[in-house]
Amino acid sequence: MSKVRIRGSESAFQWGLTTYTAYGGACLRAILLKSSLPRNKDIDPKHVIRGRLYEDTYAARLDKQGITYERELAVEIEKDEGVFTGHLDFWVEGSRVVELKSTESKSRLRDIKKGEYVVDNLAQTVAYMVAKKTTEGRLVYSYWEPQTDGEYELKFEYEHNISIDNFGRISDNNVPTKWSVYDLLAYQHNAFKVLNTRTVGARPHNYDLAWGSPCHYCPFAKACDAYDAGEITTADQLISMATSGTVSLADRANAQKTTSEEVIDE
Ligand code: SF4
Repeated sequence: MSKVRIRGSESAFQWGLTTYTAYGGACLRAILLKSSLPRNKDIDPKHVIRGRLYEDTYAARLDKQGITYERELAVEIEKDEGVFTGHLDFWVEGSRVVELKSTESKSRLRDIKKGEYVVDNLAQTVAYMVAKKTTEGRLVYSYWEPQTDGEYELKFEYEHNISIDNFGRISDNNVPTKWSVYDLLAYQHNAFKVLNTRTVGARPHNYDLAWGSPCHYCPFAKACDAYDAGEITTADQLISMATSGTVSLADRANAQKTTSEEVIDE
């Protein structure tokens, strides 16, 4: 069977037998469905514009400090039958991965100011650290205020200094998280399996919560509910229902306006 590739932004964590995801995009089922759709970047060009602006700003700062770096470095991790691929934003002085995220959402700004991170963004940063064989990484969130002339102004930044200890445990600004590198790699293994075999993965463990379920705002929810109710039974039927007339690209773009995926650039 040919190798499958999963992209950095589709990372999340496996914890024991269950998948933890902060939003629908990292759900194993959603990975299968999204593999049949265009990327967010193709739907909303603001993702690209804001992300590029932040990268240029960050590069200018490093230049001013005389710090050497590489930008947009392609990385790959081979694992079992799959390859994890991505482009890390900055590889700084040969030892540190830097991943930049930007938003114009005021509600996200509140979370950023509290020092909160999106688990999926942490997973992405750690995956790049593993690929580059380094224990040092930095995940930086930024808030950009839209201006009347259509430009953006940088208003706030928060740095998460990520480290991995000898046991694979992950810390954020020297505070241990509940995640380890092994959780991440186990998740990738399952994602490869889902894509390779085109099987319908389990829903995330938190899908039936009244609050915080990634399914609440997921545009594939109707199709997933129909699958779980036995109205459709195969992966092909699920993909067809989720990605065709039942859920249009416009529905998907609208639904994502309410999720962290829409407001956090890759
Ligand atoms: S509705 Fe829930 S289970 Fe289905 S793809 Fe979306 S997040 Fe995953």
